[in-house]
Amino acid sequence: MKRDPRTIILTLRRCFKLQCPVCGRASVFAKPFNLKVHCTACDVIFKREEGFFVGAIMANVVATEVLILVAYFSCLLFTNLNDQTMLTVLFVFGVTFPLAFYHHSWSLWLGLDHLIEGLPQRSER
Ligand SMILES: [Zn+2]
Repeated sequence: MKRDPRTIILTLRRCFKLQCPVCGRASVFAKPFNLKVHCTACDVIFKREEGFFVGAIMANVVATEVLILVAYFSCLLFTNLNDQTMLTVLFVFGVTFPLAFYHHSWSLWLGLDHLIEGLPQRSER
C-alpha cells in the first residue's frame, strides 16, 4: 500500500508520542510496560497474535546494539577513558536504554504495521 509522506510523518509523530497510530487520540499503553488491548478512541486492535511483537523486541535490541557501537567508537575517538570505565558506562547504557526505549519500540512497530497493512478493527476479528 502506497502512503504519502505526510501520512508517514503523522504516524511516526504519533508513535513517538506513544499515541494510537491510526487516530492519535489515545495512548497505546494502559500503564508502564502494559500495552492496551485496543484503542479506546477508534477501536483498532493493539494486542495481536503471539509473536507479533518479536519485531518490536528485535528493533529494541538492534537500536541498543547500534547505539552501544556508536558510543564505544565515540569514547575511543573523543575521550581518553580507560577500558574499565568505558565498559562500565557501556554496560549501564546497555541495561538502561532498552528499558527506556521499550515503549517506543512497541509503538513504532504498531505504527509500521499500520503503514504497511493497517491495524484491524475489533469488529473485523
Ligand atoms: Zn485510535
